[in-house]
Amino acid sequence: MTNIVTNIAETVESHGNNAAIGFQGEETSYEEFWAQSGAFAAALEEHGLGEDDRVAIYLPNVPPFPIAFHGTLRAGGVVVPMNPQYKAREIGHLLADSEAKVVVTLADLVPFVEEVRDDTDVEHVVSVGGDADGATPFEEFLVHADPEITDRADDDVAVQPYTSGTTGQPKGVQLTHENLTSNATAASELIPDGIRPDDKQLGVLPLFHIYGMTVVMNATLFNGGTYYAVPEWDAQNAVSIIEDEELTIMHGVPAMYNDVINQPDAESFDLSSLRLCGVGGSGIPTEVLRTFEDLYDVEIYEGYGLTETSPITHFNSPIDGRRVGSIGKTVPGVDSKVVDENFEEVTAVESGPIDEDEADLDGITGEIVVSGPNVMNGYYRLPEANEEAFTEADGTRWFHTGDVGYHDEDGFFYVVDREKHVIVTGGYNVYPREVEELLFEHDAVADAAVVGIEDERRGETVKAYVVPTPEADVSPEEIKEYCLENLAEYKHPREVEFVEELPRTTTGKVQKFKLEEREVAAE
Ligand code: AMP
Repeated sequence: MTNIVTNIAETVESHGNNAAIGFQGEETSYEEFWAQSGAFAAALEEHGLGEDDRVAIYLPNVPPFPIAFHGTLRAGGVVVPMNPQYKAREIGHLLADSEAKVVVTLADLVPFVEEVRDDTDVEHVVSVGGDADGATPFEEFLVHADPEITDRADDDVAVQPYTSGTTGQPKGVQLTHENLTSNATAASELIPDGIRPDDKQLGVLPLFHIYGMTVVMNATLFNGGTYYAVPEWDAQNAVSIIEDEELTIMHGVPAMYNDVINQPDAESFDLSSLRLCGVGGSGIPTEVLRTFEDLYDVEIYEGYGLTETSPITHFNSPIDGRRVGSIGKTVPGVDSKVVDENFEEVTAVESGPIDEDEADLDGITGEIVVSGPNVMNGYYRLPEANEEAFTEADGTRWFHTGDVGYHDEDGFFYVVDREKHVIVTGGYNVYPREVEELLFEHDAVADAAVVGIEDERRGETVKAYVVPTPEADVSPEEIKEYCLENLAEYKHPREVEFVEELPRTTTGKVQKFKLEEREVAAE
């Protein structure tokens, strides 16, 4: 079944009394959730909105997010999720581009919408958590009536998240009912017993991002489990919720796991209710994974994907065995391969991971391309970007991920780095990820990121930003020496700078462009 609404309706039918959403100790049953999302759908219909109309959800993870999300889909609309950290300028572009008619947001964020409203098609602003000028409070907006049933085809667009991908301007990614349903279903099938009605998932990955939306929220709601909404990341708070609510599944980005193990009282946490952890969004340093697993006796399974692929394309499924350091195998129903610049398939290595220090990565690595029911229709109104993103070959439409990787004969894939992050120094390629892995192995390193900086002689050279642990007694010079002892000379950071923290997106990716800008500004 590939329609999102029909899937949820089935869960409501079979698990109506289960808790669909948990939030701050309160629970909303599937039946209540269904009634509320129906009331949101009925409200849209009363305003003459429905099929294909865009509804922007500009909220952190609070219960009105899933309610407005599924209400919009029930009315036949399209959800445009927006990062609640965005300011007026950023949402202005998204609202204008998507032609959203409704915005659901926190009362505190309404002024940002008002600031740009004249340049958009926004007709209704709905405020959560209070009143605000120009907005209707969420509860008042709802119309408690049964919405009409709007039939949406499998290939109708359901959500349009924005992603910057490799270029600057955010692009609207059109994901269909089939894209999202196939991936939420896969996310459940890849774990032992699937997601169960007695599972409770930590919902701290932002819902505006595809990982939180599909793998955490929809995969849970498709299976009668509880989605426990947590509006922002705070390691101590997340741990207390896992302990108090006895959550069974956690998904997070690597920075979250790293944050937990770096808490001063990390050894006292009791995470024994967790039966499984998942990680993605960027590669998790092996050292972080091992430390977390040793402390809490639970395994972390790494997956990989992109907004454009709804997101999962690869996963280290516990059912299939895993390889630490690998992003796993291609998930069922999805195809992937590694190609060179002529779109020729690159040969698989015998058994990975390879020792990147010794092997010549040239000829083994290439760009990972994928195809499958989870791959987006295309970017919204951007024919040129679509042209670049896809290659037709042998009757298949392949999507270019922009990630450099390789795979082994057993079908495990490895991401070396993003194409644009590769540092070319004196003619040699350095993959920052490899240097970062080494830095994480050092006891005094709490966090690290490696970028390329301008160098007159070599074109670029390697620089490491390091967040030392609070008790660290080490100098940048010593870190440099340590890298030199463990890496080929051209790969070692010629500059090491200690910083208090690294700039990260809410989905845990280090904003390397910010570190690079710092370099340019400092010149
Ligand atoms: P997004 O569209 O925000 O989900 O970002 C997608 C990008 O995140 C991919 O193209 C990768 O560069 C990166 N990514 C996601 N998962 C992983 C992973 N497990 N290892 C390395 N990079 C990852």
